[in-house]
Amino acid sequence: MDRLVVIGNGMAGVSAVEEILKIRQDLSITLFGDEPHVNYNRVLLSEVLAGERRFEEITLHTREWYDQNKIDLRLGVRITAIDPLAKTVSDSEGKVTSYDRLLITVGSIPFIPPIQGVGTQQAEASERGRPACRTGSLHPAWPVEGATQAPIIEKQGVFVFRNIEDTQKILAQAHLAKQAVVIGGGLLGLEAARGLVNHGVSATVVHLMDRLMEQQLDAASAAMLKREVERLGIGVALNTTVTEILGDEKVTGVRLTTGQALSAGMVLICTGVRPNIDLARSARLKTNRGIVVNDHLQTSSPDIYAIGDVIEHRGKTYGLVAPLRDQARVVADHLVGEKKLSYEGTVCATILKVAGVKLTSAGVFLGGDGHEEMVYLDTRSAIYKKLVFQNNRLVGMILLGDNKNGTRLFNLIRSGQDISTVKDQLIQMGSGQPSIQVDSSLSTVSTMADTELICNCHTVTKGTIMQAIRDKGLKTRDEVANSTKASTGCGSCAQSVEDLLQDVN
Ligand SMILES: Cc1cc2nc3c(=O)[nH]c(=O)nc-3n(C[C@H](O)[C@H](O)[C@H](O)COP(=O)(O)OP(=O)(O)OC[C@H]3O[C@@H](n4cnc5c(N)ncnc54)[C@H](O)[C@@H]3O)c2cc1C
Repeated sequence: MDRLVVIGNGMAGVSAVEEILKIRQDLSITLFGDEPHVNYNRVLLSEVLAGERRFEEITLHTREWYDQNKIDLRLGVRITAIDPLAKTVSDSEGKVTSYDRLLITVGSIPFIPPIQGVGTQQAEASERGRPACRTGSLHPAWPVEGATQAPIIEKQGVFVFRNIEDTQKILAQAHLAKQAVVIGGGLLGLEAARGLVNHGVSATVVHLMDRLMEQQLDAASAAMLKREVERLGIGVALNTTVTEILGDEKVTGVRLTTGQALSAGMVLICTGVRPNIDLARSARLKTNRGIVVNDHLQTSSPDIYAIGDVIEHRGKTYGLVAPLRDQARVVADHLVGEKKLSYEGTVCATILKVAGVKLTSAGVFLGGDGHEEMVYLDTRSAIYKKLVFQNNRLVGMILLGDNKNGTRLFNLIRSGQDISTVKDQLIQMGSGQPSIQVDSSLSTVSTMADTELICNCHTVTKGTIMQAIRDKGLKTRDEVANSTKASTGCGSCAQSVEDLLQDVN
């Protein structure tokens, strides 16, 4: 294999190229990205919207990086068709490029539910319209009929939140609008609402379900989160949604299923994402909700691979960063390596990036039949901790208000190790009682072994981070991120990095 073509210059595409370059440097790599930007950290758009970071600060790879690695980067160029028999791709500039192997990493696109007053392009009514929505908030029963193929929003002041352009437009409108409605009370909707509040916009989150972040929280933690979110000045309307966007050319408000009208100078639609499968479908690759891949991340056409938000693996779609890092390592091994690795799925943790609210959720957080649950609730301090066990293994958790043990506990969930000898101590750890001394091998990051992973996305160990902090005199999380890459993936280890900085400095 000499010629690799990658479609999509997002986090999955570039992660795969990074892994490939670790194994082989003599490939001809052509990378198509229809956004006009070099690879950036999409996760951090929430912090850009909140005014906590500038756009320049979320770049992951500079133009020089592509040049140094002899990657033929085609920025702002969209692939319009794949011909698996001829092994070529056609692009928006009318050019045709040949490949030996093709990697599709075209991600996901915002899902827009049918709402009167939103200009949409109708998709066929089928299962494929149902979003992946880990970062979104879609009600499983939300009708997929009328789901959009791609978001086309005609009314001024109505936005989706997916890329740099969306964020720029939202920020510009935030300086004009006084009130905003955010449709969707999942991770993305809450982060967007917080961002708007930071700019002085009064935001109300409208959510179809009976609780916020129902894909990550149980009823008790969601109720506590609602109180915390309201404390930040964000309004929350549950059990209802928007049926109509009001206003002629410009949005003036929304109408809810209850009949109530809310005034708004801007509306953000954060109702989940769905894998961007249209290109693959046109090429007659096997698709369902996502592009169907096997454990080698190979599509139904043997020379075409796919990873990231766009795939469906063992019936599952993700919509998160951690899986795409795991997938990048496997796909690189199959494209240029020893073909020894296989992808078996990723256990995911979700961290809410809303300043002032500490929240981590992972694994089987609901518990239920066949599970044992430990719950600690302190309404005065707004702390809720739940650990879920099954067969002497930690299989899920919710940490709200205090997630400093999140990395450690998540490592136990990921490893699936037998915790029978330390279960009582884990329960004590979760109990929030500061006086309790737990086995040093289980407590916070400061007592983790140097060989243990802090950043699962970039496989950065505690030892690497500690050494960088000491040797380079690092003082801030951003400095650690620039030096080691830790916390630049899904961001779930950010608190652990802060804790290590505190330990050393
Ligand atoms: C605001 C926000 C916050 C998030 N927060 C978190 C978080 O806290 N934790 C977490 O794990 N995940 C989070 N996510 C989700 C995470 O960003 C995605 O899982 C991740 O970016 C997926 O990477 P990807 O490369 O598969 O897809 P994408 O990032 O969507 O990249 C795909 C790229 O391909 C391009 N493309 C599409 N079609 C074509 C074509 N035909 N030709 C050329 N290029 C094309 C797209 O424009 C895009 O640049 C967040 C997402 C957003 C928007």
